[in-house]
Amino acid sequence: MITVRTIEELQSAKQTHSGSIGFVPTMGALHEGHLSLIRKARAENEVVIVSVFVNPTQFLEGEDLDAYPRREEADAKICELAGVDILFMPTIDQMYEPDELSIGAPAKRGYILEGAKRPGHFDGMLQIVMKLLNLTGATRAYFGKKDAQQLALIQQMVRTYFLPVEIVPCEIVRDADGLALSSRNAYLSADERSRALCLSRALKKATDAIMAGERDTRKIQEIMLDALSDADTIEYAVVVDRSFRAVEKLELGNAILLVAAWVGKPRLIDNLWI
Ligand code: AMP
Repeated sequence: MITVRTIEELQSAKQTHSGSIGFVPTMGALHEGHLSLIRKARAENEVVIVSVFVNPTQFLEGEDLDAYPRREEADAKICELAGVDILFMPTIDQMYEPDELSIGAPAKRGYILEGAKRPGHFDGMLQIVMKLLNLTGATRAYFGKKDAQQLALIQQMVRTYFLPVEIVPCEIVRDADGLALSSRNAYLSADERSRALCLSRALKKATDAIMAGERDTRKIQEIMLDALSDADTIEYAVVVDRSFRAVEKLELGNAILLVAAWVGKPRLIDNLWI
């Protein structure tokens, strides 16, 4: 594995390889969730590129940009062991110029749920993903369903701009007790960690009700809200279809249950595709 920090180094590292490129963009503090994406990329491509870049433009004023966990050495070891070919760890000035043009999240789908709670977040996310897809020349790029709305917007960006890349959605990886893995779980104290389980529990309770025949999304949302009472602040608990439209009646095979809540320091999200 070669670790590169500049665009020039990335381009020359790429020249030493040929064949399909699997790309996994991350913000580092790698865990089993990231690893599952990297393993899939490794299995499906001749070359694997991973990026670690804490992208400042997707953090809002007052969010945890400075506190976001940074573990470059451990990340590099994990990537090396996972058989990554090129690890791209750029500095901010490699990725951005002053007063650059920007692409924006779509007015509707980009400004509900996460986009409503974190206005501007998806603009910054799409801006960096566009740059990284172009720089790496990825054949396939791997994204977790954990960030369901992010995934949907990236798929839309690829369609809108006719980007020559296949977006590969990957399943959510959880701890044995159900907590979805996240770099931000590192902020949780022991008590908060056990309260954080209310997110996956809410999804489980909703699933049980759906399996027992419940299809009314308002009732399903109530079940989730009720189960989220251990959180400090609930942001949302909703049912949408796979195009992120609100629905009154859940249709199996075309729904996503989504929850977001604050537990202690971190704001946590989780979801279930049903
Ligand atoms: P991040 O480093 O949080 O920006 O995440 C990088 C990629 O890993 C994104 O595509 C995430 O959706 C994905 N990811 C993060 N956590 C998980 C998880 N628990 N399971 C599956 N994918 C994940």
